[in-house]
Amino acid sequence: MEIVTRFAPSPNGPLHLGHALAAIVAHDLAREAGGRFLLRIEDIDGPRSRPDMADEFRRDLEWLGLEWEDVPAQSTRLDSYAAAAGRLRERGLLYPCTCTRREIEVAASRKGPEGWVYPGTCKRRPPDPALPAALRLDIERALEATGELRWIDALAGEQVADPGRGGDVVIVRKDLPASYHLAATLDDAADGVTLVTRGADLFEATHVHRLLQALLGLPVPRWHHHRLLLDGEGRKLAKRRGSPALSDRREAGEDGLMLARQLRFRNLQLGT
Ligand code: GLU
Ligand code: ZN
Repeated sequence: MEIVTRFAPSPNGPLHLGHALAAIVAHDLAREAGGRFLLRIEDIDGPRSRPDMADEFRRDLEWLGLEWEDVPAQSTRLDSYAAAAGRLRERGLLYPCTCTRREIEVAASRKGPEGWVYPGTCKRRPPDPALPAALRLDIERALEATGELRWIDALAGEQVADPGRGGDVVIVRKDLPASYHLAATLDDAADGVTLVTRGADLFEATHVHRLLQALLGLPVPRWHHHRLLLDGEGRKLAKRRGSPALSDRREAGEDGLMLARQLRFRNLQLGT
């Protein structure tokens, strides 16, 4: 099977070292296997997306010495998201939710991988149709339809899908025709991605993606969740904590190929 990987950044802030590692891992795994490496811009988060950023990203990748194929950005694929959501809805697997972030925080009793776990409030009481609604996936019902599912991570091995850990996730946002989960799952299938690589911080999301693949009859790729670069205090690198933008380093004249070599070395040390 041909190896097809992708790097899928969101243009709502500059790339930093963590993104560089993600791109390098995806690129190298494809190259080592004689496969293809794709760049997909995840730009459906309209208000936060900045179109000029995507070109900045390409300059960053070039600076790191990577070569890629462009595939269409998410904003061009909204119809496919709406169609898939419609199919799930027809099967009674989605339900409207009008809860605000604040309401969820108050009602939730536990935190999951993505923050407070939605306690299913709107599943039990039909919400006010006058309020803006998101659509959530009824995970329990969905799993009844699919039965047990498995997926394979190159580092962590075979997993039994456990998509309920984060509660009933949002599939269609109040303000957008898709959530990250729906869009990324559909796009990876449409782009023919056979090896989904991304940071270990998105490991939990894969349980949901595997379920969506089963529900929507999509091909099942393999995954490679790479370890994260951490700062001196063991926290994930983040722009707000001073991890410098790649574009700043590039414009300051730093050697991008050297940086890429250092990141490959760090990644080996981290054990991927
Ligand atoms: N757009 C996502 C991000 O920037 C990509 C997640 C993924 O690779 O699936 O984190
Ligand atoms: Zn709700």
